[in-house]
Amino acid sequence: MSAYFLNFFPMNADISQADADYFERNDDFLGPFRKVDLHCHTTMSDGKKTVAELVADAVEKRLEFVAVTDHDIVNREAKILLERFGVASCESVEISARDYGRKHSLHLTFYAREINARTDAVLRGIREARTGKIAAQCELLASHGFAICLADLVIFAHRYRMSTDSISNGHIAAFVMLDPANRRLASAIAGREIANRADFIQSFLKEFSPFRNVGFAKVPDYEPTVVLVSELARDNRAVVSVAHPNFTFEKFGEIAEFESRMGEYAELGISAVEINPFADAAWLASVRTTADRVGMMLTFGSDSHGEIDERHRGLGGLHEIAITDPRLVQDSMDRLLSAISGRNASDRRNALKYGLPA
Ligand SMILES: [Zn+2]
Ligand SMILES: [Zn+2]
Repeated sequence: MSAYFLNFFPMNADISQADADYFERNDDFLGPFRKVDLHCHTTMSDGKKTVAELVADAVEKRLEFVAVTDHDIVNREAKILLERFGVASCESVEISARDYGRKHSLHLTFYAREINARTDAVLRGIREARTGKIAAQCELLASHGFAICLADLVIFAHRYRMSTDSISNGHIAAFVMLDPANRRLASAIAGREIANRADFIQSFLKEFSPFRNVGFAKVPDYEPTVVLVSELARDNRAVVSVAHPNFTFEKFGEIAEFESRMGEYAELGISAVEINPFADAAWLASVRTTADRVGMMLTFGSDSHGEIDERHRGLGGLHEIAITDPRLVQDSMDRLLSAISGRNASDRRNALKYGLPA
């Protein structure tokens, strides 16, 4: 029962069950939800905030619905703690899928009431394989003079409260940038100052990086295909959203490529696309019209990693349209939560509000 409810009604008031249900909105995804964040990270993957810190942030900002989407791991602790403090949530994860047609990673955020054991097993396999790749990248970097090895990386991650399970390029970049000698070497190789972790990742650790010969290890594909993620989505009655398309597609033909791929993704069962806070006017227009055209829902997420930079806002820091058009967020949340719960959120809300059978 919300504090608002208790303050508004005297304790001895005659309250119908329908009223009580209406105000107990977190119980059944009733909403309406307007202050939301469906994309954020904690130290369970590459975020900087612990679960407790993220939950405190969500409560302080009075967010109504938060889905924590750590990379390739379902953060159930976050969901349980959010709900305990009155913030609605669902089970969720950001999966790095492999889009074989274009041979690059497609980040998909995945939302369900409950995510099943088969999906957990697939995610565990991804994390194990990625640890192998990170070990290979450490060896490659070491062969070019960097002071780094997997054991040091694990100790470092532990010391800085980063995940030791979902080890990623983010860990390598953090390790390199904290060591002045490693940072100097990176800048010397690049012939310019390597400014931050994101810069190091983009310059050295990716398949398309200019200095990939120094830090990118080619290993057999281990990321799930879009087809497999779609199959898992059906299995879990999940909504899957194409995360930050404005970043994913920036190196691959931008908007035109995005628009040409989305019909195919929709056919595969990808059911949503994200409005990223940094989508400019052209991207925003494209995401909205493309979603309409292919019948996808919209999701809103900050991709908060606990620190603010040119690609990440703080928790709840959505695109401006979420502030100017909160109804768009509300309708999108109603659609998403109706899809994962199998019940129409807005019908049910109205039924309970007006005392009709739900
Ligand atoms: Zn992502
Ligand atoms: Zn993310």
